[in-house]
Amino acid sequence: MTLQLKAIAKDYTVRGTTTRALDGIDLEIALGDFVCVVGASGSGKSTLLSLIAGLTPPSEGMITLDGDAVTGPGPDRGLVFQHGALYPWRSVERNVAFGLELLSLDKEERARRVDWYLEETGLAGLRKSLPKQLSGGQKQRVAIARALACEPEVLLLDEPFGALDVQTKEDMQVLIRQVWTDTGTTVLMVTHDVEEAVFLGRRVVVLASDPGRVAADITVELPGERDLSVKRTPEFLALRASIEDLVREQHRGHVGLS
Ligand code: ADP
Repeated sequence: MTLQLKAIAKDYTVRGTTTRALDGIDLEIALGDFVCVVGASGSGKSTLLSLIAGLTPPSEGMITLDGDAVTGPGPDRGLVFQHGALYPWRSVERNVAFGLELLSLDKEERARRVDWYLEETGLAGLRKSLPKQLSGGQKQRVAIARALACEPEVLLLDEPFGALDVQTKEDMQVLIRQVWTDTGTTVLMVTHDVEEAVFLGRRVVVLASDPGRVAADITVELPGERDLSVKRTPEFLALRASIEDLVREQHRGHVGLS
């Protein structure tokens, strides 16, 4: 499987004025990879994810998954937003089952998947709870379990931990790396947090702003098996600093500072 973006551009027209949010995006993401996209606010990170999710069409270019053109949302791409958007009247297990009800699976397979992904995301003890009874981190676990239960080829994460406190965020980072190792799902994650991108990604793509373009595509040369202590190693800190500089440079260039 590869996800391919070829010469992608996206324009938004608001009250007769057209702005180019993304331009000339060429990206290829291989099966099983973990790619993080970073960039200043407004550089087009969310737009990029929406295009891949099929929520909005590109103005130019073509997106393919396994050679098939992406023309709308589909179960092969699972999406998680910053605020999980759970169904408030459904219990945790019924939220996780939601996407499965739309797939033609038999009852046993549906139940097996719900059990497995609740276990994988540490939610087995909360399966009967309602979203309003959960913490922010627990809600995001449900959103991740719900996306994973459909066993998508690509998991698309849009700032999924952006609203969480530092401790919970680190727990979730460890969780998502574990899920990635256990399931082999391809992950594409948008974040403004460079530390998070370097910790999680095997590749970090830096977007430049106005219009959003790929400014750098960096392979993270850190051990495949990482725990949180890697964040304190000199290699990690150096890579993090150089990518933060790159993001800052792109932003300064964009707003005309020197
Ligand atoms: P990021 O996720 O990096 O903050 P976005 O993808 O949200 O960037 O936005 C990129 C650019 O596109 C910004 O200039 C933003 O104002 C514009 N934009 C995003 N979504 C829309 C929309 N639905 N309508 C009009 N302009 C939009």
